[in-house]
Amino acid sequence: MSIVLKDLTKTYGSQRAIGNISFSIDSGEIVGFLGPNGAGKSTTMKILCGYIPQTSGVAQIMGMEVSKDPIGVKKRIGYLPELNPLYPDMYVAEYLKFISDIHKIKGSKEAIERVIESTGLSLERKKKIGQLSKGYKQRVGLAQALLNDPDVLILDEPTSGLDPNQVTEIRKLILSLGKNKTILLSSHIMQEVEAMCSRVIIINKGKIVADDKVEVVKQTLSKNKSTTVVKFRSDIDVKKLRAKSGVSEVIASEGSTYRVVAESDIDLPELLFNFAIESKIIILEQKEEVESLESVFQQLTKNV
Ligand code: ADP
Repeated sequence: MSIVLKDLTKTYGSQRAIGNISFSIDSGEIVGFLGPNGAGKSTTMKILCGYIPQTSGVAQIMGMEVSKDPIGVKKRIGYLPELNPLYPDMYVAEYLKFISDIHKIKGSKEAIERVIESTGLSLERKKKIGQLSKGYKQRVGLAQALLNDPDVLILDEPTSGLDPNQVTEIRKLILSLGKNKTILLSSHIMQEVEAMCSRVIIINKGKIVADDKVEVVKQTLSKNKSTTVVKFRSDIDVKKLRAKSGVSEVIASEGSTYRVVAESDIDLPELLFNFAIESKIIILEQKEEVESLESVFQQLTKNV
């Protein structure tokens, strides 16, 4: 696994930005991290890159725990922050040299040539960053993230603020980079994720509300669904519950707790009661979610 998060929680003062987030990403996957503004995307990404510490839980990159080996992790990861910090008075090649010196990149001359080539900056290398279009500034941001030839790329809202042509160009570039890297990219636009990713993880109010193939999530969202969070006394056979007629998704979280999505005409409390009896497992708690996937989707599509 390239990226593993287990029960990750972050609180800022008394405010919980993310709560008990868990997911894993295999090498070579391009995964969209989708959610409305303020959902907790940047917070999760900053923890993954070792820029801020988590309050609890575990974040791993390429098998290394980020909080225990931040330097090891930084060698294997490339990060494009949401507000890409560039120096407008520096020349493109000069800036890349500056960043590679800060990160003590070995063979920096070759590394700079490689990233200039792979991000299509050959004609701009002698221009000042301040003279570049937003799309090209974003290429410079991607180039700095690639200097250490990372296995994992974390891209926070990589196309935000770009015009439609620039968006298309940057998407193409990300797809070509994704051929031999694991990429987690955040967005608040469903279309964006659809264009680049096979899998989508949706976060809302600091909780994961969906994690599946893009087409499966879209199908789930397009139908009327109801969601119930149920806590059993011990772990259940997720496959068995998923196989029940009317159940469309079962997402496991910590403490034998599951988010169960079903067709809205299904009596989910009755279905869960029967499932518990059949499995000889006790239900400790269950609660219908008011914030449905559907309403999250409405927020996401408002921005398109
Ligand atoms: P997203 O990237 O999905 O827009 P963020 O991770 O930036 O969401 O924010 C999640 C929540 O945490 C928001 O409510 C935000 O206001 C809060 N937050 C983010 N950074 C800080 C901070 N440095 N101090 C206090 N609250 C923060």
